[in-house]
Amino acid sequence: MELLKQRIQRDGKVIGKDILKVDSFLNHQIDVQLLNEMGKEFKRMFKDEKITKILTVEASGIGISCITAQYFGVPVIFAKKTESKNLDGETYESEVYSFTRGKTYKIRVSKRYIGPEDRVLIIDDFLANGKAVLGLKDIIGKANALLVGVGIVIEKGFQEGGKILRSQGIRIHSLAIIKSMDSGKIEFEEDEF
Ligand code: 5GP
Repeated sequence: MELLKQRIQRDGKVIGKDILKVDSFLNHQIDVQLLNEMGKEFKRMFKDEKITKILTVEASGIGISCITAQYFGVPVIFAKKTESKNLDGETYESEVYSFTRGKTYKIRVSKRYIGPEDRVLIIDDFLANGKAVLGLKDIIGKANALLVGVGIVIEKGFQEGGKILRSQGIRIHSLAIIKSMDSGKIEFEEDEF
């Protein structure tokens, strides 16, 4: 998605060798108009999939998921990272290793909001090693729901997540795929659609 790539080039900051900071439009301050264009793209890609729920992880996936959900007319469920009294009743759980934080955490979704009738689209801000998506996929499996696809805003193509998920037959669409960001210079792969 050209608009997104231009914005990453303009405002993205490379931290170390493998972290991209996009706090000015995606992860802290949010450019709602840009997210709106991304939501339209996800709708275009997955319009024939009869999606019933969008699933993400708190907190950074929630904004783009909600905007995308407006185009599909479906609810968003965000997996929670902390235990909460609001999550009464039973939950589906999975474990996710976060390489940005260097630790493993648990994610959980109430059994009330996902079930065998659901056709689920996972949306997230970044795809790196694929652990967050695999944790969400695990929860979808435990609920006997169907994972129909994954929509990613920024995929770091030089990390292994995309390869792992595609080799499992999962349909992934990333709005921007970064080929490399050596010495702070960001290069993209060609758009796949
Ligand atoms: P994965 O589970 O694919 O290894 O990593 C994906 C998750 O880690 C995303 O939900 C995102 O929040 C975070 N993440 C991974 N890489 C980056 C990055 O380069 N920048 C930012 N801001 N978050 C990242």
